[in-house]
Amino acid sequence: MTKKELEKTKKDLSYNRVSLSAKPQTEAINDYAQGYKAFLDNAKTEREAVKYAVELLSSKGYKPFMFGDKLEKGGKYYLNNRQKSICAFRIGQNVDGVKLVGAHIDSPRLDIKQNPLYEQQDMAYLKTHYYGGIRKYQWATIPLALHGVIVKKDGQVVDVKIGDDLDDPVLCITDLLPHLSREQNQKPLATAFTGEGLNILIGSQSICEEEKDGVKLNILKLLNEKYGITETDFLSAELCAVPAQNARDLGLDRSMISAYGHDDRVCSYPALTAFIDTEDSEETCLCLLADKEETGSDGVTGSQCSILYDLLDEICENFGVNKNRVRMNSTCLSADVTAGYDPLYADAFEKANATYINGGVALCKFTGSGGKGGTSDAAAELVGKVRMLLDKNEIVWQLGELGKVDQGGGGTIAKYVANRNIDTIDIGVPVLSMHSPLEVISKKDLYETYRAFKCFYLSK
Ligand code: MN
Ligand code: MN
Repeated sequence: MTKKELEKTKKDLSYNRVSLSAKPQTEAINDYAQGYKAFLDNAKTEREAVKYAVELLSSKGYKPFMFGDKLEKGGKYYLNNRQKSICAFRIGQNVDGVKLVGAHIDSPRLDIKQNPLYEQQDMAYLKTHYYGGIRKYQWATIPLALHGVIVKKDGQVVDVKIGDDLDDPVLCITDLLPHLSREQNQKPLATAFTGEGLNILIGSQSICEEEKDGVKLNILKLLNEKYGITETDFLSAELCAVPAQNARDLGLDRSMISAYGHDDRVCSYPALTAFIDTEDSEETCLCLLADKEETGSDGVTGSQCSILYDLLDEICENFGVNKNRVRMNSTCLSADVTAGYDPLYADAFEKANATYINGGVALCKFTGSGGKGGTSDAAAELVGKVRMLLDKNEIVWQLGELGKVDQGGGGTIAKYVANRNIDTIDIGVPVLSMHSPLEVISKKDLYETYRAFKCFYLSK
């Protein structure tokens, strides 16, 4: 075999990963990233993401849908599920199966307890109960903002958002100084910080000298002046402490974005924008932005709720098509992030089956843990179909799994959709420092993901 023949054989027969690293960072990529960063800053919670989506969809002519409404071919709608989850959909010429991209808009954070406020040593604190999988030590000594709603006793809903504007005060959790942390340093990472220890410092000014809990009372007074609430109203509130900092370009080359909540806004935003940008598709297209993924997808706004399938059934009833056949003819891209290979923590990954920053949009055939436990495991036929679609559209893609076997694992909404007899595969963006207050993604991967979702919505 000549050297040339050998090279050709090698090229023809081997799997070669593509890296976008040396490809130019085009204006289209940068423009898209700008839009994404604005979304990140305006949608740090699921409620804010739904608000953002409703405004965008309304500006593009999408109409609110409620069960029982008549649907028309060519119609553009969205179903707002309790302000915390949303399904945008468009009735195409073909209603005998749908194209669904499902992502989630909740992210790990610190939820404020229902009776949170207390005072100790002339300082006032908010108790928290963490939401989703966090590494607790990462949440101390960073500026925190407070987002959410308070429902007052008369039913009035008050929006809360403090800490994001540069003029706003921020909150934080304190940490022990290194000079006195000899004992703490001996503890394993998992136990050095406790859930009950994640209390947020919220004030130190007392209302007057006479009052024992004067700092707490002063905070209540400030809250009452600003929002008209009393301490009892915390009981019917949903307040979340989220990182106060906004999304920023990362790297001197500005090739990446650091932000809170890439998981899973980095898939939600491409899902929503690709959905909106494919109106000439003949297919019936849906874009689900779900809540509660980080806590197991339970509840009325999680992906295990029947609402999406109730909607599919109504679409079928409207157009007189068999609902069971429609599900079987449908395809879902479960759009969620995956762990990008991190050379600083190489031991956790298996290089041949990892996904890489700048490796393009990432497919996962399966998720789960401990011997593929809890995964829907997309069929090879489905992987093949998606592979052909991405290749045909010259999308740079990769395929991998979350990390080493038995290192841990994770799940997405994929299995909940697949359990309803809809072919589903995981796809999304590789992330570094996933679930931390400062996650990292590549702009090129983001853009490739948007392109992938677009060609999916347009495909037959
Ligand atoms: Mn996720
Ligand atoms: Mn997650």
